Amino acid sequence: MRQTRGAWKVGSLRGIPIRVHVSLLLILPLLAYLFSGAFRRAAEVAHIPGAQGMGVSGLWGLGVAVGLFASILIHELAHTLYALRRGGQVRSITLMMVGGVSELTEAPPRPRDEALMALVGPLTSLALAGLFGLATWGVDGTRAFHLQFACFYLATLNVFLGLFNLLPAFPMDGGRILRALLVGRLGPVRATRVASLVGRGFAVAFAVWGLVTLNPFLLVIAFFIYMGAEGEARQARMKAVLERVRVAELMTPRAVGMEADVSLEDALWDLRRERRGVLPVMDAGRPVGAVGVEEVRRVPEAERIRRTAREVMRPVPVAPMEENGWRALRLMLESEVPLVAVVDAGGQLVGTLDVDDVQRGMALFQTREERAERESRRWRQERPA
Ligand SMILES: [Zn+2]
Repeated sequence: MRQTRGAWKVGSLRGIPIRVHVSLLLILPLLAYLFSGAFRRAAEVAHIPGAQGMGVSGLWGLGVAVGLFASILIHELAHTLYALRRGGQVRSITLMMVGGVSELTEAPPRPRDEALMALVGPLTSLALAGLFGLATWGVDGTRAFHLQFACFYLATLNVFLGLFNLLPAFPMDGGRILRALLVGRLGPVRATRVASLVGRGFAVAFAVWGLVTLNPFLLVIAFFIYMGAEGEARQARMKAVLERVRVAELMTPRAVGMEADVSLEDALWDLRRERRGVLPVMDAGRPVGAVGVEEVRRVPEAERIRRTAREVMRPVPVAPMEENGWRALRLMLESEVPLVAVVDAGGQLVGTLDVDDVQRGMALFQTREERAERESRRWRQERPA
């Protein structure tokens, strides 16, 4: 099990890792406790003899809590499978305390598909609610009281999951549908800005409601929605700006790197001289890998004089100068090397791109992008309908 930012990988689907966040393990016993209380009360009301015991209701409570998270996983899988079918790319699925998150590296290209992708999750939850409802009805009365109540409970929880996710509180599913509907009219950046504003409005409302009713769940949900809405708006802005900028305009235009055959001791000097954590490795002027302080440190000091950069290097993402900044940034994030080697038409290293370069570029090109957006809006308005 590999740990990534407080989440453990528990399985995978078509190469997409499925992770469980620690917050879920904290909340699971709490939910089991809450649900078992409901089982006890229900058994009391229904006069089920001998069913009020702590042990039995505790186990059923835990069962429903696990069933709830399985339902959330199915909801997320519905999003993922639809996204894959429509040309999207999914990086990972993480189950968290407040539900699931399908991390997309690439949304489906058409807004209509993005809306449908958001919609299939809540629809799946409502379909699950229907199945559990049928099961509730099908399970025979008193003898299977606990099973029947569990089905009823899971039906209710799935109705709640489906409807709650349909609220237009971006970045929840309903908010994504709202954004997709706005894209045609406003363009992606403004559509995301409006959806994000609505999402943050919901977050503030949930927070107030949570404070008034002393409900910690609502406060946590409010926090996640607020942060998510803000993050997505920032990302949409970055995408719009960087898509129009060539890597050549963003990069540090110097072919700094180390030769593949230098010793690791010299490699460490190269890194220190350039004040970089990672440098590209070159062979006849072409980037063939990357070596960072991390790789060098893994080799015992006494051996560094004999081992070469080529032996320890990891693959480096490479982009041509004409590539757009957004694609290059994504390449960097997917490779988990904090650097892109930029090459000319002949494959020779001409520069490097890292997060600092991207941030500098954002500051430089944002105003240009804002002007372009204003002009395209004017053009859209002037265009005869
Ligand atoms: Zn969803």
